[in-house]
Amino acid sequence: MDIELSTEDLAFREDVRQFFGENEIKPGEDYMTWRINWFEKAREKGGWDVPKWPVEFGGPGWTPTQHYIWEQETARIDLPFDLPFGLGMLAPVLIAYGSKEQQERFLPDIRARKVNWCQGYSEPGAGSDLANLKTKAELSEDGTFYTVNGSKIWTSLAHIADWIFCLTRTDDSGIKQQGVTFLLFPMKQEGIEVRPIITLGGTHTVNTVHFTDVKVPVENRVGEEGQGWTYAKGLLQHERTGLAGLSKSLVALEALKEQAQTVPRGNGTLMDDPGFKAKVAELEIDLMASEYTELRSLASAAAGAAPGPESSILKLKGTEIQQRIQKLTVEASGIYAAAWGDQQVGFPFAKGGMGGYLSSRAYTIYGGASEVQRDVIAKNVLGLKRSGK
Ligand SMILES: Cc1cc2nc3c(=O)[nH]c(=O)nc-3n(C[C@H](O)[C@H](O)[C@H](O)COP(=O)(O)OP(=O)(O)OC[C@H]3O[C@@H](n4cnc5c(N)ncnc54)[C@H](O)[C@@H]3O)c2cc1C
Repeated sequence: MDIELSTEDLAFREDVRQFFGENEIKPGEDYMTWRINWFEKAREKGGWDVPKWPVEFGGPGWTPTQHYIWEQETARIDLPFDLPFGLGMLAPVLIAYGSKEQQERFLPDIRARKVNWCQGYSEPGAGSDLANLKTKAELSEDGTFYTVNGSKIWTSLAHIADWIFCLTRTDDSGIKQQGVTFLLFPMKQEGIEVRPIITLGGTHTVNTVHFTDVKVPVENRVGEEGQGWTYAKGLLQHERTGLAGLSKSLVALEALKEQAQTVPRGNGTLMDDPGFKAKVAELEIDLMASEYTELRSLASAAAGAAPGPESSILKLKGTEIQQRIQKLTVEASGIYAAAWGDQQVGFPFAKGGMGGYLSSRAYTIYGGASEVQRDVIAKNVLGLKRSGK
């Protein structure tokens, strides 16, 4: 694989940098106004607001190298706040399996960042074994609406979501993967209760969501009744690819090295400590190896392939790398990392270190736990067969 950037790619990178430079937030500018304008201007550039969408749905039609450049450049700047659920997870499902009416109804608002979505997959008893889900959807006798009853758990940002894409069970007579139906419905309605879960890092991002006789019109069903498992799986591969965060890790690792140079150790700094240096070097090597996997994955995407099982490798390695960076940041901060919340004690980079480290425990759980990714890699990448023992 040739990894030297061509003249065209270098020009593209320059264009991206110029766009970011021209559209930085100005001192005193209202954040939400800037955010909406930023996406509008990115749209005018020819689909830069929806980099991963196909051209026929407004995407820019970039080459894998252009995607790679975008990832690298966006990791270096403070992009406007964006959520993955609508843009990166539901949109690919609607594009692949939604009706024309659903595409026309939902995609423009997702693109305009007007509607917040949440992901109603996991349930108590259905996480890694997602097909075990029990939230029931019953079709009315006249076939016009479903009645949904059940509970979801760990639903990120359900408390600020306008809509949910939700896996429900419409039939439990066959194997678990059959009889799953993919429904879309508004969150602010009678019969939906959202309760917060405060996590180890002290933040409120996840929730339990309870449905009691929630009515969902049949036109809000994506694809066929009972075929939701196929659509759900496709979405998970998009989710996994998005979670690796390698470009951000590259930037974070550089920052860590600079920070470690401000920590006195013996006659020098922490970066002179052979033990610490070895850990940083190991991280750098793993990060580089994962980057090549990402490039391979982008290349197969450019050839028209959907994200394949290599997204599991990226999810597994990428999230472990993020955790190791958080852990080394805490190690570099020493005792100062223990200061909780917004307090800054000691090195400036120590602020929020412990909260970040504790929150990072979740990276290897959500989007499919690491053990499960290893299973996918063993079966679908390495072609290993389960032993009979
Ligand atoms: C911060 C956070 C945000 C989340 N956001 C969302 C969201 O927005 N929407 C949503 O639907 N879900 C969300 N989740 C849920 C997440 O997808 C699940 O937590 C995850 O799939 C694991 O399921 P579980 O928690 O039920 O654990 P379990 O599946 O019960 O797993 C428990 C342990 O057993 C291991 N294990 C399970 N099966 C196997 C196996 N076959 N082989 C080997 N080991 C196994 C797991 O790796 C894990 O270590 C979120 C979770 C977290 C922590």
